[in-house]
Amino acid sequence: MASEQSTTAILDRLIGFASMSSESNLDIVQWIENYLSQHGVASRRIPDRSGRKASLLATIGPLDRPGVVLSAHTDVVPVAGQDWSSPPFVATMRDGRIVGRGATDMKGFIACALAHVPQFKASATATPIHLALSYDEEVGCLGAPDLVAEVAANPVRPALCIVGEPTGLAVGYAHKGKVARRVVVTGRGGHSALPHRAANAVIAAARIAAALEDMAQQVARHGARHQAFDPPYTTIHVGSLHGGTALNFVPDRATLEFEIRYTPGTDVAAMLRQADATIDAERGRLKAQAPEAAIVVEDMASYPALMTEAASPAVTAVQRLANGGSGATTLSFGTEAGLYAQTGIPTVVCGPGDIARAHKADEWVGMDELAAADAMMRRLAAELGKPAEEWIGR
Ligand SMILES: [Zn+2]
Repeated sequence: MASEQSTTAILDRLIGFASMSSESNLDIVQWIENYLSQHGVASRRIPDRSGRKASLLATIGPLDRPGVVLSAHTDVVPVAGQDWSSPPFVATMRDGRIVGRGATDMKGFIACALAHVPQFKASATATPIHLALSYDEEVGCLGAPDLVAEVAANPVRPALCIVGEPTGLAVGYAHKGKVARRVVVTGRGGHSALPHRAANAVIAAARIAAALEDMAQQVARHGARHQAFDPPYTTIHVGSLHGGTALNFVPDRATLEFEIRYTPGTDVAAMLRQADATIDAERGRLKAQAPEAAIVVEDMASYPALMTEAASPAVTAVQRLANGGSGATTLSFGTEAGLYAQTGIPTVVCGPGDIARAHKADEWVGMDELAAADAMMRRLAAELGKPAEEWIGR
């Protein structure tokens, strides 16, 4: 049996892995695997196709009882171009804070969970804990679907999932969903003096961008309202448009990226069909000028919205674990929670730190915040001797 390690000692190790989404995460996964096995906990990798990345799933306690999923991502965002006052992949303690990439998003939560593995082991006789650690969350929740499918394939569905993204231990019960797409336009180039013999890809992309903005205005004015969100409606945003190399040349290529952030209950498939219809019309126009022209739409990333009832037993139970915390709230940012909720697992977002500090230079988490999350883990451990239906309800 390994000796217990403190949350801060574990966080120190975790920050040391530069597990940016662009890199393999196998070294941090291996460290966590070893840590778990030192505590007698078996874990299983769910690899991606390249073999460079893996999610990790471990269950502590009885497999045939409804349990609690503690969900987190192992990847962090890049640090390039940021002005850090200490090395980002070295946990640096100052003024009651731990500074380092991932401190708040979201290795602090992983450290709290791992530090309590011994307590979970000792107490999880009736409610098991499932540790579910994903990769590539920061680039569009790419790793989570396979992991969530594994969790959901459990013969007994978990009673609760806590996604430990930084909420200051408030219980996040809802957030918008997102779909991001890239539109690649191929026209026909030519001398700008002879535009009638060419097919201008930039104009096609610009027309699509304008149509998407019209859609956005329409939705903002007439779409469904969800007052818990800011803004209280679904948004469509064109974030980039590139094309053209020189004024005297008709551009033969342009790319455009857009996203839809939708309120729960929105028929996003219908919105995408509307966007596709616009793109189809533009493709037809372009092909009439140049038969070889093409417009290809690529999926970049997507995750579903989260909409757990604010008054549901899951929210109440996690508020109790967080000692009241800062109450129940909607979130302005997306998480993997919608994926878990989609499988029917009651899911909330609750973890230490503040999303406002994420992705920035000198990202930090407070020692007091970690202590509060540790207390939450202790309260959780204290419940695990009881069946989930007794302390969570359904
Ligand atoms: Zn995160």
